[in-house]
Amino acid sequence: MRTIHTFFILLFLQAAMAQSDQELAAKTVEKNTIKSHISFLSDDLLEGREAGTRGNKIAASYIANQLLSFGALPVPGTDSYYQEFNLSYTIPPGFLKLDLDGNAFPLNLALELPAIETSGKAAFLGYGTEEDFKGKDLSGQVVVVWAGYEGKQDARTVITAGRDKIAIAKAMGATGLIELTQFDDAMWSRLKNYLGARTEVKDESAPEESNTFHIWSNIKDKDPGFSADRPIAYSLSSDGQAHTTQKTQNVVGIIEGTDPTLKDEYVIYSAHYDHVGIGRPNAEGDSIYNGARDNNIGVAAVLSMAENLGQYPTKRSALFILFTAEEKGLLGSSYYVEHPVVPLEQISYCFNTDGGGYNDTTLATIIGLERTTAQPLIEKGAAAFGLKATGDPAPEQGLFDRSDNVSFAQKGIPAPTYSTGFNSFDDEILKYYHQADDEAETLDYDYLLKFYRGYVYSGRLIANTPDKLFWKAGDKYEKAGKELYGID
Ligand SMILES: [Zn+2]
Repeated sequence: MRTIHTFFILLFLQAAMAQSDQELAAKTVEKNTIKSHISFLSDDLLEGREAGTRGNKIAASYIANQLLSFGALPVPGTDSYYQEFNLSYTIPPGFLKLDLDGNAFPLNLALELPAIETSGKAAFLGYGTEEDFKGKDLSGQVVVVWAGYEGKQDARTVITAGRDKIAIAKAMGATGLIELTQFDDAMWSRLKNYLGARTEVKDESAPEESNTFHIWSNIKDKDPGFSADRPIAYSLSSDGQAHTTQKTQNVVGIIEGTDPTLKDEYVIYSAHYDHVGIGRPNAEGDSIYNGARDNNIGVAAVLSMAENLGQYPTKRSALFILFTAEEKGLLGSSYYVEHPVVPLEQISYCFNTDGGGYNDTTLATIIGLERTTAQPLIEKGAAAFGLKATGDPAPEQGLFDRSDNVSFAQKGIPAPTYSTGFNSFDDEILKYYHQADDEAETLDYDYLLKFYRGYVYSGRLIANTPDKLFWKAGDKYEKAGKELYGID
């Protein structure tokens, strides 16, 4: 009798031990739990969780306390789950008046501008190439140039070229740079919104105020007739930009792995938890952008993973990161990769999750699916719960480089983004994407249950595989990966 009893206990223990990753994934991911995370984080009381606001901090507190309850450890060397940093907000000047050769140039954008009242003679340096600058005495001078480069005046070129030009101008002692842009009205107003009132991570080492100014003046197709042969008479007056600073935080937790060797490697499970805050009201007068899809769905995926690993850790260790300020330009993840709490070369994989919504509940859409060697593991994870893992349906949108995964990819870490199923940017997506209507009660939780189980199972497969995870050969980030991990 006793022998039989022991036999059954052994059998039972063996069965428990042999629970597959798939069974373990299904075991902890429950519909009500998912719904409670998303409903709380999408509540109007959190006011759209814009980075730096009270609602954003409440969301961070919720996430940190969930991580604590799952048994995750805080940031190494601290007793806190927060990685705090400052955001610097630039407020455009109230007025900016620019005259060149006696003519008013009324369309201006201040990139760097203290309060100022100045006039004199400026040097015109064509497109402001290195060649154009070479050999000039610009000490105390104001410089006027065409924006961008000859034949290349798209916004991206103008922005990056402008950074080089102001750096050269400053290094040569110039006091100001005026770039003449030629954007159409739509692009000009977009750029004014995007660059005029901007948010950046505050660089604590940067000098507080610079006296150099850098402005764009948009002249569309007018030719002002400037030439390098003669100086331009200029006058400029403005009350200057204002700057404010606000604290915000990434939320970070760790669950150690079980394998004596592989535990030194980490898999990151990440999602941004900020959204765009309060904005233009919809037809019903609702002005709170709840961001249930973008990106509380992602946050709940990471919390589901943490709950699962709290009970059933994997061989590799887990690093959970919930980013702030994604909506301000990936600022939380950019800050994180410059201030990692675990050395980046110990990160085997970053399994990010983010999305703007879904229109196909038979799919899990993984931006970058085909780009890393984890592809079969992710496909297997999704398929086990009835979903087909598909790649990016709209590569022309450049989604891979528009979410937090790219901060890690640029450092060489294989990093796709796991998203809810979509096959195109149709009305079903646009109805909710960055809209006040993106509310928790509009979600299909039966679908999300499969989606999360697929994510957790895929994560477990990735974190338990004995194989090295890497970029597929020829990928844009393969070289960065080789450098990071010291592979030749
Ligand atoms: Zn997002």
